[in-house]
Amino acid sequence: MESNYQCLIIGAGMTGLTAARVLQSHGLNVAVFDKGRGVGGRLATRWSDNEAGERTYYDHGAQFFTVRDTSFQTQVDDWLARGLVKEWARGFADASGQPQHDGHPRYCAVNGMNSLARDLAKSLPVTTNAQVASVSPFENGWRVTLASGVNHTAASLLLTPPVEQSLALLDAGATKLAEETRASLERISYAPCFAVLVELEAPSRLPEPGALQLRSEPIAWIGDNHRKGISPDAFTVTLHAGPEFTREHWDAPHEVIAQKLLHAASDWLRAPVKRWQVHRWRYSQPVVTHPEACLFTDEPAPLVFAGDAFGAPRVVGAFLSGRSAAQVLLNR
Ligand SMILES: Cc1cc2nc3c(=O)[nH]c(=O)nc-3n(C[C@H](O)[C@H](O)[C@H](O)COP(=O)(O)OP(=O)(O)OC[C@H]3O[C@@H](n4cnc5c(N)ncnc54)[C@H](O)[C@@H]3O)c2cc1C
Repeated sequence: MESNYQCLIIGAGMTGLTAARVLQSHGLNVAVFDKGRGVGGRLATRWSDNEAGERTYYDHGAQFFTVRDTSFQTQVDDWLARGLVKEWARGFADASGQPQHDGHPRYCAVNGMNSLARDLAKSLPVTTNAQVASVSPFENGWRVTLASGVNHTAASLLLTPPVEQSLALLDAGATKLAEETRASLERISYAPCFAVLVELEAPSRLPEPGALQLRSEPIAWIGDNHRKGISPDAFTVTLHAGPEFTREHWDAPHEVIAQKLLHAASDWLRAPVKRWQVHRWRYSQPVVTHPEACLFTDEPAPLVFAGDAFGAPRVVGAFLSGRSAAQVLLNR
């Protein structure tokens, strides 16, 4: 089976979903493919049942988001009005344990950050469990080959995975970019991050509002999912390691990673640990970004690179990059 579209979008994270919505609202025939089991990418929420049959929830990618942009504010106002999002805080405690409020709202999703991606994906033609293996030029447009062997074609292509992964898809399709374009993309880099998902036997002792933004090593962040409200039946906490610790321990066994981070966090948790799991984010957040909100090239065929490494980082940056990518494609 081979289908033909006006635009194919790789990645159903904040960037790809935002772009797909804009393009679809302008009548374009689009399709979105993601290798994940569900949509969302780094807007990630994991759940499982513990021994007592209670459901445990963890936000293990993005923890909260800020707005600072009118178009994103419109989207967030809609989520607020429908009860999908709430203001969590106006700043978090640092290592002193004292709240550091700066007046800017930090929002979180009431049912876990992934629910926002699921909301955006409603009524979009998204296929999950669809790993793209290669992309190559085809009749002035593109051919996208899935790992399953299925091909799709389109007039234009939007790549939203972390840039190294997007370049690997082009390489796999023996697709050459102009040297300058390739060099701009290769300058982009990301920090890795371990997330340790911890279930406690009792409430954590994290300061109000249930999170600590240390921005240091070995721990950068501790967030209490129970106090955030997404895990009402179990005391679950997410630890994020700093980039140095993560790089240094990238190949270490999960047991070693978890024990070191749990030890470093013990003064803040002060509750017995029931169970833990480790998630490795190879590309957690961009360190070196591209100055524009997306990168368009016509060579060898209409292609846009977008994501949180283009323009501004984080959830808001991904939203703006998705909109910008869609606008570039609509203007053609
Ligand atoms: C640990 C961590 C903490 C964070 N904390 C915050 C925070 O507190 N606040 C904040 O604003 N931001 C935070 N972020 C960043 C935020 O999550 C990202 O900026 C944003 O979600 C990026 O969205 P995106 O769509 O650009 O990329 P992604 O969400 O990564 O989407 C890319 C998608 O491409 C898919 N993909 C990749 N390769 C292929 C392939 N070959 N075939 C098919 N699909 C493919 C992936 O499965 C993925 O779904 C955090 C991120 C991490 C990891």
